[in-house]
Amino acid sequence: MSAKHESPHTLIFSVSNQKGGVGKTTTTINLGTGLAAIGKKVLLIDLDPQGNASTGLGIPGADRALTTFDLLIDGAQIEQVATSTSVPNMDIATANADLSSVDMELVNDKSRVTRLRSVINRQAEAFSKYDFVFIDCPPSLNLLTLNAMVASDFVLVPLQAEFFALEGLSQLMMSIKEVRQTLNPRLRMHGIVLTMFDGRNNLAKQVEADVRTNLGNLVYKTKIPRNVRLSEAPSHAIPALVYDHRSVGSVAYQKLAAELLARVTNQNTREDAEHVD
Ligand code: ATP
Ligand code: MG
Repeated sequence: MSAKHESPHTLIFSVSNQKGGVGKTTTTINLGTGLAAIGKKVLLIDLDPQGNASTGLGIPGADRALTTFDLLIDGAQIEQVATSTSVPNMDIATANADLSSVDMELVNDKSRVTRLRSVINRQAEAFSKYDFVFIDCPPSLNLLTLNAMVASDFVLVPLQAEFFALEGLSQLMMSIKEVRQTLNPRLRMHGIVLTMFDGRNNLAKQVEADVRTNLGNLVYKTKIPRNVRLSEAPSHAIPALVYDHRSVGSVAYQKLAAELLARVTNQNTREDAEHVD
């Protein structure tokens, strides 16, 4: 077996839901921090022109000299674009409003949905130093989100337990299926995480029951509660896990990190077993 084969593979996750404000960025930052805290090398890719992940990690606009726009459009290297964060083991490729012009820039480009995949393929060695890459997607199934899905192994969906949540989810599942059937057969839904969960709310409990009945194991056991520490942390420009690691929100994200890691490890073991057979 070659050394290359033995080296662990970088796992790339799109954190995606076309619905706005459901906890994509909060999940990207705090799940990334949870994995970095247990020694994993993590890269966050801010693929949202709002740049919330970049701001939430304290990278001011003036310090975003090269962004994911330059990565996608101008052939920039990930080593130039990625900045270290206050969290050891975690870097971020920042974004700003430039990214909103990607649609226009690529309108006549036949390879417009495979741009990020090509960047990662071309710069495989630089990306291979990371165990996990989390791509924070914008609230839309647009070209940026498609680029993320084409470049990913998995999609992780933050879902707010409310009335219309399931409707949006089936649209998202269709998009994942389409990407799998066309440009990226590797792509799998990794899991759905219930966010901003309020256990005292009957509707939330009903939605949880529906989601678990319909989607079974695809739903992570860990739920993220509604917690004020999670919403305060970005204004201090640090992850909630650093701001107050004992808060119920932070503890939930640490549990989610452990659950995700266990799931990934099981998947690897199963694949190895299948391979041996
Ligand atoms: P967008 O679609 O605009 O990118 P998003 O899906 O990334 O939004 P976030 O920015 O993570 O969502 O969260 C939306 C708002 O809700 C933010 O103000 C965030 O601080 C807050 N928030 C997220 N998760 C929680 C939670 N579990 N408890 C309380 N507040 C939360
Ligand atoms: Mg966001």
